[in-house]
Amino acid sequence: MRPLNRSTANVSTEVRPLGADRRCGVAGAVALDPRTYGGTYKLIGGSPALDFANLVSYRGTPREHDWLDPAANASEWARAAGLDVAIGDVAMLRDVREVLARVFLAVADGAAPAAADVALVGELAADAWTRRRLVLSAGEPPARWSDRAATLLDELALDAAGLLTSAERLDRVTACDECRWVFLDATRNRSRRWCDPADCGNRSRQRRHYERRRGR
Ligand SMILES: [Zn+2]
Repeated sequence: MRPLNRSTANVSTEVRPLGADRRCGVAGAVALDPRTYGGTYKLIGGSPALDFANLVSYRGTPREHDWLDPAANASEWARAAGLDVAIGDVAMLRDVREVLARVFLAVADGAAPAAADVALVGELAADAWTRRRLVLSAGEPPARWSDRAATLLDELALDAAGLLTSAERLDRVTACDECRWVFLDATRNRSRRWCDPADCGNRSRQRRHYERRRGR
């Protein structure tokens, strides 16, 4: 018997509406509780798995900030990302976030992600598939995939697997020069360098200006 084809490509590319009510003035900004952090979280990744990986700002630096603290930020994030699903265990979501960050930062740097990380994404995506069923829908096509008790973990795993199996989308995964947030560069000539030109772009230009004036 042939094994079930668990390709996720046509599921994860679904466009989901963003929850406009959860966003404030700055493009993509989401009203997450920042604790004492001075920055703003923004949905700029172009794909849920990337936006979720970005729930750490300035990863690995003294400025590092964990946006899943407080844990209630997870449900705020899901709402803003248009994912109407159960949140589940936030400690596990934090671990998965780090896996996604490792995988997509490696891809952005032109390196191969760790095989164990890719395998884990595959296991989580396969689990998620067991909760999907094919249901009749009005019109064409006559059937669609529907979630049964899907969780945020399921959505992230299926999205990440969809990215990892699409050469075209993977080729556009880029990390911000300044803060290392990851995003899909949708520009025709792949010229996007920053998560947000008005934020990291400005900071980068100011720093270079300062360095030039100091004669470096
Ligand atoms: Zn940035």
